[in-house]
Amino acid sequence: MTTDRTVPFTTGDGRSLNLLHVAGEQTPTRGPVLLVHGAGVRANIFRPPVATSFVDALLAEGYDVWLENWRASIDLPPCQWTLDQVALYDHPAAVQTVLAETGANTLKAVIHCQGSTSFTMSAVAGLLPQVDVIVSNAVSLHPVVNGPSRLKSQLAVPVVGWLTDYLNPQWGEGRGDDAGRLAVQAMRGLVKLTQNDCENGVCRFASFTYGAGSDVLWPHDQLNTAVHDWISGEFGAVPLTFFNQMARCIAAGQMVRHEDLPGLPADYAAAPPRCQTRFAFVAGRRNNCFSWQSQQNSQAWFNQHQPGRHSLKVFDDYGHLDVFLGQHAARDTFPYLLAALDKPQH
Ligand SMILES: [Zn+2]
Repeated sequence: MTTDRTVPFTTGDGRSLNLLHVAGEQTPTRGPVLLVHGAGVRANIFRPPVATSFVDALLAEGYDVWLENWRASIDLPPCQWTLDQVALYDHPAAVQTVLAETGANTLKAVIHCQGSTSFTMSAVAGLLPQVDVIVSNAVSLHPVVNGPSRLKSQLAVPVVGWLTDYLNPQWGEGRGDDAGRLAVQAMRGLVKLTQNDCENGVCRFASFTYGAGSDVLWPHDQLNTAVHDWISGEFGAVPLTFFNQMARCIAAGQMVRHEDLPGLPADYAAAPPRCQTRFAFVAGRRNNCFSWQSQQNSQAWFNQHQPGRHSLKVFDDYGHLDVFLGQHAARDTFPYLLAALDKPQH
């Protein structure tokens, strides 16, 4: 049994976002942990219908659990965001709000995909000095994708940009604004042609949105039926501003600035990290959205600057989001994630 409290906060550029503070039955015995979702989903992504979610596992360990809805959250009004805006304006304000609410001096964070790229960008730019440990899943500072996805990011993203200024996995079920547009119907046809026999239109269109082919975000054998059904309501619109930035980052092999904002470097990996945060990088070997080598490259980069400090764990049977959503994740991945939050794992 948990209860939620929504804590609004205002970003550095005046946008209204919020945090969900999740209280379990016991009073926390440890400090705050901030969970940061990926693009086009929301804080709720960490609470799938499984016996023990990652939030449950954190509460059982005594952590004080906070979920951040940053500007990409589908619980908030849609906007044309860039990762630079998020790194500069959203995450520092979220961290400061959690510290102010809890009275803690530091916090730990578990960050996923584009929550992870943007949070890591913010950390290396010196904007998150109060975050002492980060567990990062899938990708952080060095995006690597497979051949078809790379081709798609370089060739298809500009074409899609002529047709629409956002992509919405809800279109896979004929839902959402613009679902009836000819361009959207053409994309749905393409998705049907290029993917497996999964019957969930949102699942299929999410694969198309975030990669090439099937099983981009999870190997289907890792999800139970309830979670596979549940994701239909958990994926929404993602703006082309993000895909344009990511296409440039994939081409560069590292995160690069898309927008010239004060205090942010043009190239996030050009200078040593301006943080003492310990990173535990994790990835699934079956990830077809970002290759596990993304995290290998980032661990190598951080350890080059801060030798021996940062770890890497690759889960052989896992993909992208099933690291958190998988039906056996509580058995297979959570023990490592919790251990990595607590102390260095090598
Ligand atoms: Zn599916």
